[in-house]
Amino acid sequence: MTTPIIESTTALKAENISVRFGGVKALSNVSLTLEPGKVYGMIGPNGSGKTTLLNVLSGLVPPNEGRIRIAGEFPGTSTPEAFFHGGISRTFQLIRLVEQLTVWENVAAGVDHAVAPKALSGTTAPTHADQVDGAIDRLGLRQYATMKVGLLPYGLRRRVEIARAIARVPHVLLLDEPMAGMNNDERRDVAQSVKSVVSKGMAMLVVEHDVPLLVGLCDELIVLNFGEVIARGAPNETAALDVVRTAYLGDGHGGAA
Ligand code: ADP
Ligand code: MG
Repeated sequence: MTTPIIESTTALKAENISVRFGGVKALSNVSLTLEPGKVYGMIGPNGSGKTTLLNVLSGLVPPNEGRIRIAGEFPGTSTPEAFFHGGISRTFQLIRLVEQLTVWENVAAGVDHAVAPKALSGTTAPTHADQVDGAIDRLGLRQYATMKVGLLPYGLRRRVEIARAIARVPHVLLLDEPMAGMNNDERRDVAQSVKSVVSKGMAMLVVEHDVPLLVGLCDELIVLNFGEVIARGAPNETAALDVVRTAYLGDGHGGAA
């Protein structure tokens, strides 16, 4: 028999991740498996550890305990560079783009492996024009490609950030509240953009407070509370669990950012 053995590689596996900041336990024993082609939604009240988890998964915060494999491999070091090389891309809760550079230049920073983690300081050395153009077209940014990012409204900036994150087709895309602070039109626009970048080869983890929107977007919902995963599973069923509703509604601020 010459049938090749095709192993389905898990995009990301995080095991027993714990993070402490002084006396604060930001994450306790969190485990997570992300499969390619799937969208994972993550909710949780303010301060429940969502951003910390994305920071750990992108090498920005080394965990006190636990380990992470990207496409089966351990990143050499817990640095943004190593995780980027491993195939992790992300966007930030507060958009981070270089305002004085054009849309095209900002997206290009997502492709060049050597400079990408430095993109935030404005260094770009684009080398893969096709990938940059592909991402720009995918996010409907062609007409803005030569404009400086600083001139664009908020919703379009978020699209640029997503284009930058997917330009080199990562194993894992992490989106931290991509619709936070947006009006309804912008939210719809960004939700559409997020849907448009779902692909077979990529796992996506989206943190978002808009539960109905997230339920409509994801294949699996993961719920954090006080740094622990308190529920996970099919989106509708998970969102309806008492323990989830209590965590959200029990929070004085309603959980929304
Ligand atoms: P979320 O994104 O769910 O709102 P965070 O991950 O930002 O939550 O925060 C989780 C907890 O960790 C909070 O108590 C927060 O104050 C704390 N925390 C996050 N980052 C730091 C840091 N760099 N130093 C100290 N405490 C932090
Ligand atoms: Mg956060």
